[in-house]
Amino acid sequence: MTVSQRVDALMEARLVTESGEGDATGGRRPSRLVFDVNHSAVAVATVNTAHSQVAVTDLQGRILASDTVNVPIVSGPERVLSALSAAMTRLLQDAGVEISRLCGAGISVPGPIDPQTHRPSQPPIMPGWDGYPIADHLSEAFPVPIFVENDADAMALGEQSTAYQNSSSVCLVKVSTGIGAGLVINGAVYHGIDGGAGDIGHIRLAGENALCQCGSRGCLAAVASGRAIAMKLTERGIQANSGRDVRDLLVSGQVDAIALTHEAGQRIGEVMATVISMVNPGVLVLSGDLASTSLIGGLRETLYPRSLSRATRNLDIRLSTLGDEAGLIGMTRIVADSLFSANAINARLG
Ligand SMILES: [Zn+2]
Repeated sequence: MTVSQRVDALMEARLVTESGEGDATGGRRPSRLVFDVNHSAVAVATVNTAHSQVAVTDLQGRILASDTVNVPIVSGPERVLSALSAAMTRLLQDAGVEISRLCGAGISVPGPIDPQTHRPSQPPIMPGWDGYPIADHLSEAFPVPIFVENDADAMALGEQSTAYQNSSSVCLVKVSTGIGAGLVINGAVYHGIDGGAGDIGHIRLAGENALCQCGSRGCLAAVASGRAIAMKLTERGIQANSGRDVRDLLVSGQVDAIALTHEAGQRIGEVMATVISMVNPGVLVLSGDLASTSLIGGLRETLYPRSLSRATRNLDIRLSTLGDEAGLIGMTRIVADSLFSANAINARLG
């Protein structure tokens, strides 16, 4: 009776819906209940250095409407977030979603997020964003719970919940203008106690002295990021400013871009050998503008010889198949997992 009362309450709140009949185990054929992913909608955004993606999704992460906003991150939080708010408002109209059906919003940024304040914490490639109250800014237009996450963490969760649901540990490395990594353990993002977990871009490489955007020298990001490759290409007379520019050159088969991306993969593989030995994940996903056969080839060349076979024999190294959508899907998961957790539902239903 307790169960049926609970089910009735969930049905009444339209949180679950019937989905045909289940398998009979003797007696009356049971009806199958599923979480109603159309119960409400989520507005999500992923901020990159040169542009941002915005989407309205159902609770499963299915994209109902999406758009690109071309305001660079160096314009500062006020301008970027105002442009995102305006785009989200337009998309809700396009998708025919009333603002009252919006249950939450999520935004990912390419920098570390303080787990206490949920604000950017000394982000090296986001000038003007340190400590900025992103959620407060967005809540002016959207009076719903707002979640802020690191981009690689959101992408790792998006990949894990879509393609690698059976893996208990998924690691994602995003190589775009900068370099970051996200770790999903037992279905949840591992942030570390200060939100610093996965910030592999600023691990120092032996024998390197290139100046990094964080102020240190010899960081992985100063040597192997899209920004670093763009600078090396420019020195060779090939115009490039960002990870996106390097990606365009890779797609067009430009030989210098391919060779430099292969080398970047080797340097990233050196760092990842340490990470793999520490974590022993089941899946390593390469994502971002530089994710390519050149990058994965270089990474394999250094990662395998520098790791014990026990740490790599069941390691599945893959290029992302979701691309930019991984972050949008991951942000939806973060919003939905929090707002529809067992504790949250218990509190709501009383
Ligand atoms: Zn650095």
